[in-house]
Amino acid sequence: MNRPLRILVIGAHPDDCELKAGGVTALYRQAGHHVTFVSVSCGNAGHHRLAPTELAALRKTETEAVARLMGINYIIMGQNDGEVLPTLELRRQMIALIRKEQPDLVLTHRPNDYHPDHRGTSQVVADAAYLLIVPNIVPEVPALRENPVIMYLSDNFQKPTLFDPAVVVDVTPVFESILDQLACHACQFGQWLPYTMLKPEVEGPAAIRQAAQDFYEAFNGPLATRFRQQIEATYGKEKAPKVQFIEAFEPCEYGAPLTAENKKILFPFLP
Ligand SMILES: [Zn+2]
Repeated sequence: MNRPLRILVIGAHPDDCELKAGGVTALYRQAGHHVTFVSVSCGNAGHHRLAPTELAALRKTETEAVARLMGINYIIMGQNDGEVLPTLELRRQMIALIRKEQPDLVLTHRPNDYHPDHRGTSQVVADAAYLLIVPNIVPEVPALRENPVIMYLSDNFQKPTLFDPAVVVDVTPVFESILDQLACHACQFGQWLPYTMLKPEVEGPAAIRQAAQDFYEAFNGPLATRFRQQIEATYGKEKAPKVQFIEAFEPCEYGAPLTAENKKILFPFLP
């Protein structure tokens, strides 16, 4: 393909895309590909002191910092945090958004997940998937001729099925970029997440970045152990032990199929 790829990452909250796909985003951007992050909610619930309106404004500025840092678009769809439902209205908005973005690859949450907003986001993307090519649905935005490949972001949930990636990407070389992206979300890594984990809040850029690193290592670090076999299959037995951090993606059956051919195109940084 001799044009830049168009990658669309759809998370429920400001910071979901960074947490689960910040590494591939850094790799895509290094190679000149186009990336858009979406937060379906405006993130206006996740704080213990700030009121919803104030919090939504703050989190918008934090996403703008990520957008500037990475040279990406960052779209906030503006649903209330904690109230994302796969309604017909949200489905229409999602169809319009995906059509306008014309992505080659869409990444989003799996449908089984602890957070109702992650489940709602996954459901609305799945509901939009086939209808992207149906011109009579949302006729004001031209329908796509082909579905994009849709893949799920990683998680640790066990039921009803384990996350089963078809793609594992070594993001160890761009680990610092992931932390830079996460550190933009100061009110989350410095305040809200410590509050939810009964830990003291942290202040100042260096301490917030360290808190983001601790969180990332605790939640995403174990992926590299869990999918060691896939890492060996992708990177070879010699390089595999050097892979500390990965991002992993499982195909969603409702998008275009992931084939050996389009996998090479969509993940050009794989060996
Ligand atoms: Zn989230």
